[in-house]
Amino acid sequence: MGHARNLQTIYKIYGLIVNVENFNTYQCVFIGMVEKKKGHKHAEYQRNREKYVDRRDKYYQTHKVELIAKAHERWEKIKKDPVLMAKRKAYRISYNAKNHKKILEKHRIERERLRMNVLLHYTQDMLQCARCGFSDVRALTVDHINGGGSQDRKKLRGVAFYKKIINACYPPIYQVLCMNCQFIKAHEREEF
Ligand SMILES: [Zn+2]
Repeated sequence: MGHARNLQTIYKIYGLIVNVENFNTYQCVFIGMVEKKKGHKHAEYQRNREKYVDRRDKYYQTHKVELIAKAHERWEKIKKDPVLMAKRKAYRISYNAKNHKKILEKHRIERERLRMNVLLHYTQDMLQCARCGFSDVRALTVDHINGGGSQDRKKLRGVAFYKKIINACYPPIYQVLCMNCQFIKAHEREEF
């Protein structure tokens, strides 16, 4: 009896759903220990988050190739399994619906981060229009110096456009203009 109470206490503490009949003390203690360790680790992780993130990043950098290959392998397996694919889709839809605002906010921050990187680069950290010196970042845009900007934009917008520039190591074919100068330039080149 005492034994059973013991088991119950343990699985109540850790919130485990277990079948007592098929569950021996060893397993219970083992799971209890694992759970305890996890809890302990979590607190420790929170305290030294930066250290762990740093370590994880370093690990990723040194094992990048094999990690990507393994992820690829997993993905190839999942792709061929219609049940798993349906599960993933259902999860994605419900996740997106639940976290709509959070996702939009994340995208906005990421887009702004990339945009600032690009603007800073092409203005040599001055954040101003190349023609008139206007310096309100809200109205600064990336301009294709020799035109073709509107076609470029049609294909790529926002994040994809900034990423393309960054991945190409900031090619010298762009400059930063304010909205006014952008429109004036377009008129001069009769792009309208
Ligand atoms: Zn300007």
